[in-house]
Amino acid sequence: MLRLHNVSARYNMLGSYVNAVDRVDFEVRKSEIFGIAGESGCGKSTLLKVMYDLIQYPLEISEGSVEIHAAGKDGKPVVYRHGDIHRSWWKVISYVPQGAMHVMNPVARVKSQFFDAISKYHEKKSAKQLEAEIAGYLRELELPPEVLQAFPHQLSGGMRQRVLIALATFLHPDIVLADEPTTALDVVVQRGILTMLAKVQKKMKNSMVIVSHDMGVHYQITHRMGIMYAGQMIEIGPTEQIFESPQHPYTKMLIGALPKVGDNSQKEGIPGTPPSLKNPPPGCRFAARCPVATDLCRAVEPARVAVGHEHMASCHLLEPIAAERRAHHG
Ligand code: SF4
Repeated sequence: MLRLHNVSARYNMLGSYVNAVDRVDFEVRKSEIFGIAGESGCGKSTLLKVMYDLIQYPLEISEGSVEIHAAGKDGKPVVYRHGDIHRSWWKVISYVPQGAMHVMNPVARVKSQFFDAISKYHEKKSAKQLEAEIAGYLRELELPPEVLQAFPHQLSGGMRQRVLIALATFLHPDIVLADEPTTALDVVVQRGILTMLAKVQKKMKNSMVIVSHDMGVHYQITHRMGIMYAGQMIEIGPTEQIFESPQHPYTKMLIGALPKVGDNSQKEGIPGTPPSLKNPPPGCRFAARCPVATDLCRAVEPARVAVGHEHMASCHLLEPIAAERRAHHG
């Protein structure tokens, strides 16, 4: 559905570069919810912008490619590549940006924000007909159609987020990207938003990509996930496997920091901070924070190796496991 081949993206800061995404390579499959996890500043949101083709100065793609494989009007396959993916916005791929309040026009009613985004796809329909269809869709998503008459500030944070999801999915796109959809919402509202996303995906059978720093979100809703650290995807696999058997030391620490039922002990965050993306260190980027780092880690970058069925990770400690696996599977 969506394929990233070895993509690097950077911010051009007047001649110096912040390498926010470094050789990221993965695919999002049809009808799956794919999660992208990692601490703030690890490149998750930039990666989402790259996938959506929202490439504006100072952001640029420095290598690799992004492709979307979709069905055209006549049912024939169409491939959109970065640089022209924006031609398929709303219809094939849509985006729920972070911070509903900031992205909605504060002086326009919700109805006109829907009309601005989608009326060109419904040129033959009257405004009344289109409004009735939008109201019907809102009802399907258990949103009161009265929100169409509201200004964004009149809605709660949770309701604004729901409206953005409704807007992004109204045209039934093949792929929906959501950036931190539950951030800044209380736990009950968060759960409602995740339930809504899961319901939409189940109904439309489309693909979703959810970016969140909250591992709990991934556990609840995603089928497969990738963990990002300092611009790189350091582990990728089925969500269940990642939670049951995390392989990369960073993933283990992220999962170890999650509160568990019945365990009231104080959870520590991961000590230290990620390296600068302007001038990342040689070797493994996690070495300065990794409790099991060796000299090899500080000198040589680990390759991505297979550690289980559809499960890959980049860590020198895993290389013997991967070699044994290769020998076993021929
Ligand atoms: Fe830790 Fe070395 Fe593995 Fe990096 S390669 S995660 S430093 S053990």
